[in-house]
Amino acid sequence: MKISKEQARERISLLRREIEEHNRRYYVDNKPSVSDFEYDLLMQELQFLETKFPQFFSQDSPSVRVGSDLPLQTSKKEFVQVTHKHPMLSLSNTYDKLELEAFNERIKKSIDSDFNYVCELKIDGTAISLTYSNNRLIRAVTRGDGNTGDDVTSNVINISSIPKNLPASNLVKDFEIRGEIFMPWSSFDSLNKERELNEEPLFANPRNAAAGSLKLLDSSEVAKRGLNAILYHVITDTPFFATHYESLQWAKDCGFPVSEHIVLCQDLDSVLEYLENWDEKRKTLDYPTDGVVVKINEFVHQQALGITSKSPKWATAYKFKAEQALTRIISVDYQVGRTGAVTPVANLEPVLLSGTTVKRASLHNTDQMQLLDIHINDYVYIEKGGEIIPKITGVDISKRVTTAEKPLFPEFCPDCNSKLYRAEDEAKFYCLNSLHCPTQIKGKFLHFAGRKAMNILAGEATVDQLYALGYIRKLSDLYHLSKEQLLSLEGWKERSAERFLESLNTSKSTPFQKVLFALGIRHIGETTAKSLASHFGNIANLMEAAYDQLLEVEDIGETVADSIVSYFSEQENISVIKELIEAGLLFEIKNDIDIKSDKLLGKNIVISGNFSISREELKKIIESNSGKNLSSVTSNTTYLLAGEKAGPSKLDKAKKLGITVIDEEEFFKIIK
Ligand code: NAD
Repeated sequence: MKISKEQARERISLLRREIEEHNRRYYVDNKPSVSDFEYDLLMQELQFLETKFPQFFSQDSPSVRVGSDLPLQTSKKEFVQVTHKHPMLSLSNTYDKLELEAFNERIKKSIDSDFNYVCELKIDGTAISLTYSNNRLIRAVTRGDGNTGDDVTSNVINISSIPKNLPASNLVKDFEIRGEIFMPWSSFDSLNKERELNEEPLFANPRNAAAGSLKLLDSSEVAKRGLNAILYHVITDTPFFATHYESLQWAKDCGFPVSEHIVLCQDLDSVLEYLENWDEKRKTLDYPTDGVVVKINEFVHQQALGITSKSPKWATAYKFKAEQALTRIISVDYQVGRTGAVTPVANLEPVLLSGTTVKRASLHNTDQMQLLDIHINDYVYIEKGGEIIPKITGVDISKRVTTAEKPLFPEFCPDCNSKLYRAEDEAKFYCLNSLHCPTQIKGKFLHFAGRKAMNILAGEATVDQLYALGYIRKLSDLYHLSKEQLLSLEGWKERSAERFLESLNTSKSTPFQKVLFALGIRHIGETTAKSLASHFGNIANLMEAAYDQLLEVEDIGETVADSIVSYFSEQENISVIKELIEAGLLFEIKNDIDIKSDKLLGKNIVISGNFSISREELKKIIESNSGKNLSSVTSNTTYLLAGEKAGPSKLDKAKKLGITVIDEEEFFKIIK
């Protein structure tokens, strides 16, 4: 199709905007909304148009820049940023073997002596640069925008496969080594399983999970995420090695995690053989890979070929298409979750995908079913994305039988039979009978008992039995269970009943933020519960909080605020909380803070805005100096501690009431 100059200008500008938006979602938010393949098609189109219409070339185009994972707002800078000694680039890529041949021809033309390729698996994680000085790891920095990255050393030291010290006998003492931090499939599956249970957003793929985990502010949490690393690039200031392959053998001998699947290839045929081999074999690996990286082995040739602003000219990536399987839909079930959301799930003829046999796949919601035009007995393509159960991505219409029927989304809850409801802005149908729908009630108990909530020894089988016998209906019933009742459960003995009761007793010292999370209020995940608990201090303050006060809490938007208001407007929820308080659960923050001084004794302080340290830390400092944190400005407030972008309504109120407003510097002067 012919395209005019004006049309090309418009399309280029649209593509650039679209790609920038995808970059932000992928690199910064770690929540991509399109597949890598779709993204790569957009990028290819942009590159094609920019070559055809060079007058529209721009240095700012995403086609010539490394996609950046640095925060967009300077106020959100959470890590110290460090400039790379040598830029950290991306890689040119292709899904087409013919383009690999063209790459080979280009190289042959540019190099007039013998050369070799090194083939490596392209690990689907996030790039890291590690600096060693005098045989000690001194810094770990992300790729960032290629020139500057985030210093994530405190997180990287939690990855056990990365050596912190090297043998004294090692002669190359000062160098940089780069590689990929990744999340093995097993860690990814259990992380998403846990997030699904907690109704937290799932990571779309292990790459985004690894990148997100590496940027967590709490390094003890990073340690729990099961990250691992494979390193693939050694950089020394003075030349020690003649080839890339040799440098990696040295790295392996030093104890660095280097892949066992690196192969030296003398020509393109051996490279193609490697690709063929690994397209299938990679499915057996416990970590995600999305292609093969083909690199020129000799450093002299690498130097001679050079780099572009985005990628080295001496390497390229051949990418594999996402793994798919084709199988038949036997039937569709409709599952009710603990929040009442109804999800259609397809039962499939068992098929092998990414190392596991798949029997079920999510259809997400009715819109998705219609979009895919699913019929029972259809042959469908399934892919493993972020979800625990894989998703259906398409239908092979050519295999449809004429008698195939469309599954009908139910009008009534498959469990309690109450009418399903769909809000205007929601994709899912909900069963609103949250207080009496058995599946929802059991789901609430399971969530309440979960490891990240009250950590009570009650799995699905126990909850099912307790529910079936009528012993539990509302959360507080758990704390009234007697040993006799427990002994009446099938298979329960004295010891199991005692252990269960012990776990109930221990759960009474669970901190407030976890109790709040355990209540299972819709949209309140672990992090939101933490913010709410530290902002309001106790349940009474939270229950009384007006809608606008809820919106003042960090990271709380209208959906969460609506959900909280609606939860506390139900009398039954209030009475359950009352009973849980009577049972001895903690509904306020326990002060386990070390008192360092009484400089703020009797002083009530309200915090608003952004500071150089987190609000959590500021609150701890106030409490450890005997001060009290308040959530809203009243005549009782001593200081309004106002940071950058402090809430205008709080500032106004402080002015009206004559409350002293101090900034961070003044605050630290008071306590020093
Ligand atoms: P990339 O992931 O395609 O390739 C470069 C990276 O590969 C390097 O930075 C390095 O981290 C990694 N790598 C893994 N194994 C390696 C090895 N053995 N040797 C060398 N490097 C290795 O490039 P990128 O710039 O990180 O990302 C661009 C790609 O990311 C796009 O092609 C697309 O697939 C994806 N992306 C997707 C979206 C989306 O919305 N889905 C958005 C942006 C980017």
